[in-house]
Formats: sequence, C-alpha cells, structure tokens
Amino acid sequence: MYQMFSLAAFAAQTGWKEWKYYSPSFFLMAVPIIFLYGICIGSFLNVVIIRLPRGESLIKRSSHCMTCGAKIRIIDLIPVFSWLFLHGKCHSCGEKISPRYPIVEALNGFLYLACFAAFGMKAITFVMCIFASLLVCIAFIDWDTMDMYIPMLLMIAVLAIPSHFLAHIHLKDRIIGLFIISVPFFLIGEISRAFIKKKTGENIRGIELGDTILMACAGVFLGWKAMIPAAIIGLLLAAIFGLLYKKFTGDSKMAFGPFLCAGLLLGAMFGDEITKWYYMHFLQDLFVTSSISMIRF
Ligand SMILES: [Zn+2]
Repeated sequence: MYQMFSLAAFAAQTGWKEWKYYSPSFFLMAVPIIFLYGICIGSFLNVVIIRLPRGESLIKRSSHCMTCGAKIRIIDLIPVFSWLFLHGKCHSCGEKISPRYPIVEALNGFLYLACFAAFGMKAITFVMCIFASLLVCIAFIDWDTMDMYIPMLLMIAVLAIPSHFLAHIHLKDRIIGLFIISVPFFLIGEISRAFIKKKTGENIRGIELGDTILMACAGVFLGWKAMIPAAIIGLLLAAIFGLLYKKFTGDSKMAFGPFLCAGLLLGAMFGDEITKWYYMHFLQDLFVTSSISMIRF
C-alpha cells in the first residue's frame, strides 16, 4: 500500500496530479483489473507476434502447441497463470513452452498499469494502452524478423486522431514531430547506405526505413516534445545493449526497433517532464545568463 502511495506521490510530483484524489480502495480495485485486462490483451499480442510474420490468420485456427500441434485447452489459455500451472510445458507432449509467452503477457499488463499511472483515469489512457500494445508487437516482430510490419506503424499515426481530441498536443507540435526524428534518421540511413555500399558492396542501411517510418508515425502521435527524449532514450538503450550483445554473442547485427519502442514508451510517459526539466535546469539558465551578460556589456 505504501508503495502505491509513494507512486501516487511521485505521480503528483511529476505532473500526474489527479492520483492523489483517488482512495486506497480504488487502487486495490483498479490495479488487478487493469493488470488482468492487460495480460488478456497480451495473450492476443502473442498470437499476432507469432502468426503475422508467417502470414497466418489471426483468428481462424485456435491456438496449438508449436511442437506436437495439440490444441490448447480452454483452461490452459489463461494468460501468465496457465504457463505457471503447467510449469512451462505442453499438457500433451511435455515439450517446453517458451517463457516469452507469459513475458509478453505480463509485459503488456505492466505497461497498461504504467499507462494508467502516467495518464490517470482518462480517455487518453486507453489510446496510450493501444499505443503500448502496438509497440510490443512491433518490437517483438522486429526482434524476430529484423523487419517491421508497415500497417502496424501506420496504425500509430491513426491514433493521432483520437489523441488530438483527448490530449493537449498542438497540431503544430504534431507536424514538427512528424519530421524531427524521422528526417535525421532517413538521412543517416541514406548516408550510411552509401558508405556501406562503397566499402562492402552490400545494400544495407544503418537505420532501416521501418525505424524511420516508426519515428515519423510516433511523432504525429506524440508531438515533438516527447520525441526528442524518446529518440535519445532509444538510441542510448540500443547503444548499451548493442555493446553487451556484441560482447556476449560476437554478433553486431541487432534489431534497432525494440529499443526505439522502449524509448517511445518512456518518451510518451515522461517526455514532457524530461523536456521541461531540461529546459528549467539548462536552457533557462542559458537564457537568463545570456540576458544578464547582455545587460552587463
Ligand atoms: Zn505439445
């Protein structure tokens, strides 16, 4: 309970003012419901992540074991918990079921909780939850296939329409957001392609077009103020993980998308606060001192 209060206190500090008006019993009610809702949607996301790259139907065939093909019983379809009850094994052949299924489900549950913590009980929160789930799919599909599914990226841009009526992001900010990261990404991609082609003859971009389109679509949805911290966080995460990945696997080719998605989520939740904080601590001082020195001289 105290953790929840400190979460609420933190939320109030960072500008999420409405949490302090909610009673503890509200938290006790809301948290499990939101989490269960999140893991149920997460269960569907698993289907999307596995079937979409293979071109399989998302609704036609019921879930089946990847090894023996046995149909998964209704009782084994409870997100996260079924995997735990079955000790991560198929009920029919005993083959291990990847822990990634409950991880995706639980991740989506926690992301929904994070969205509600960040945005409160508002209509925009539902839009943000859809955004988070789309990012989960994009990130895992990119990790598996090194490719992004373009219609899914465009769905993020479509979310800008409900967001425009629910969130206070100016149209001008959205238009700047469309270009602010995607244009540099596109240019870096083009320049790196020219370099790589000259060096190795391969036609590879340093930043893929999918990543560029993702940043363009997310920019329309979030506006530029959230995009700058989002891109910086995404690049930092990719750099740190990329170094570790290369050290442990010796492989330097790694999907960039999952880190951009993580950056976008953090940017969506804390981006405005980060930009404001940065402005207050650095840029404002810069302006103040420059104006003082102007007076002095
Ligand atoms: Zn099986």
